[in-house]
Amino acid sequence: MKYALVTGGSRGIGRAICLELSKSGYAILINYVSNQEAAESTKKLIEEQGGVAELMPFDVADSKAVDKIITAWLDEHSDDFIAVLVNNAGIRKDALMVFMQDEEWNNIMRTNLDSFFYITRRLLKDMLSKRFGRIINIVSLSGLKGLPGQTNYSASKAGLIGGTKSLAQEVAPRKVTVNAVAPGFIDTDMIEDMDQATIKKMIPIGRLGKTEEVAALVGFLASEKAEYITGEVISINGGLYT
Ligand code: NDP
Repeated sequence: MKYALVTGGSRGIGRAICLELSKSGYAILINYVSNQEAAESTKKLIEEQGGVAELMPFDVADSKAVDKIITAWLDEHSDDFIAVLVNNAGIRKDALMVFMQDEEWNNIMRTNLDSFFYITRRLLKDMLSKRFGRIINIVSLSGLKGLPGQTNYSASKAGLIGGTKSLAQEVAPRKVTVNAVAPGFIDTDMIEDMDQATIKKMIPIGRLGKTEEVAALVGFLASEKAEYITGEVISINGGLYT
């Protein structure tokens, strides 16, 4: 069976990606860190549309937990293959740099950037030997353009963009593609504390993005049709930054 692992699949953009990849025929591994109820809801939604899903909780920032959980799963599923990895789990903790604490810097870097290394290296070997793989990293407009108050978040996402480009060149000969999707403002829990009326006025299309719109792009990048696209950063932001 072919699987797709979506980190942060319990809510928001990750949930929509789980539903989209399930429609493409992948069995889904729904990763999350604490919100089991939301993860169960994603699983139920997948099953309602005829798909297959399993919960796979772990903290993406914890190298040991990542290794332990993924190794155990692979040992029990020797005939299965995780063909798609979506590194979507992410957090923000905005602060002006003059006031930013070590913890606010480190937590963001560990969750948004270190996680890419821990999880991707664990799944790459199988992709390289099977000569197929799709790795999609969810970055951000903030990692391209920068936003005041987000030096930690912008740096983590810009780092992930660099990692995407290097890894894409490393693994292209084995038909594994690595791309990044850079959303602008998408209507999820992550931005509920922001001033949405002001944000909407800044967006040429005049509204927030929908999770399903990001998921549709990820679904295309995960498909066989996208085999010649690699090392790219594709923005989806309603014209906010071009
Ligand atoms: P949400 O806050 O809605 O959801 C975050 C998801 O990440 C949840 O599933 C959460 O799990 C999971 N998560 C957080 N920390 C960890 C961790 N340490 N280990 C495992 N899972 C974790 O976020 P969005 O859907 O809005 O964002 C998804 C991605 O898109 C992020 O990388 C974000 O940076 C990026 N993005 C979002 C934008 C937006 O406007 N919304 C814009 C640009 C980029 P749990 O439910 O257990 O807490």
